[in-house]
Amino acid sequence: MKNIFADERLLSLGVVNGTTGRDFGSMRVFENQNAVFAKVGVNPAAMLRFHQVHGDRVVEINTDADFENAKNSLLNADAWLITRPATGAVILTADCVPFYIWDGEVKVVGLAHAGWRGVVAKLPQKMARLVKEKGGKDICAFLGPHIQDCCFEVKDDVVGNFLPSSVIRKDGKIFVDLRAEVRVQLLAEGLQQENIHTPCFCTCHNKDMFFSYRRDHTKDAIMSFVYKIN
Ligand SMILES: [Zn+2]
Repeated sequence: MKNIFADERLLSLGVVNGTTGRDFGSMRVFENQNAVFAKVGVNPAAMLRFHQVHGDRVVEINTDADFENAKNSLLNADAWLITRPATGAVILTADCVPFYIWDGEVKVVGLAHAGWRGVVAKLPQKMARLVKEKGGKDICAFLGPHIQDCCFEVKDDVVGNFLPSSVIRKDGKIFVDLRAEVRVQLLAEGLQQENIHTPCFCTCHNKDMFFSYRRDHTKDAIMSFVYKIN
């Protein structure tokens, strides 16, 4: 039984979604991506990709023209915001945070590749603000499997980028809790605590379940995807 880690609330609202486990193979391989799309019943031609750059650029897909443009060019960006029906998008990660966000009626759904640089650049908060600007109410968020505070060790040179409340000092080492960092950003935008769901899986910890750049220095990646049916 291969694993796809999905948010059931989002699924029940008409957005097929998930993050693939390692058992699907590296998502750098297109054939492996297509095997996932076949399993969840999504047309691969509807799925958009971009060249991820650890920035905070958000690409909006509202119109047919937006879709065609994104389909025909490999944009440099890290986040999608989709209102167009029958549209999907993917991001690839190997420790970074797959960040999902949507409004209660799923008029808009967002998916971001948020590594620590994206988190520090407040990409999750930016996404929440954009969903609000589109009229989103009762906004929900979901964090897919990523490196957690048990394994995300940082050095003195970067720790100053994070909130003191997300930094854990233990045995002479420094760890950062990216979930806590994202939660603070989302609460600041007015999301309700109970609407922010975070997983219990650490990509670095669970070698049999996920690829991890930190652990293996691999280029292999897991894939997160959304597909908005209507
Ligand atoms: Zn861990």
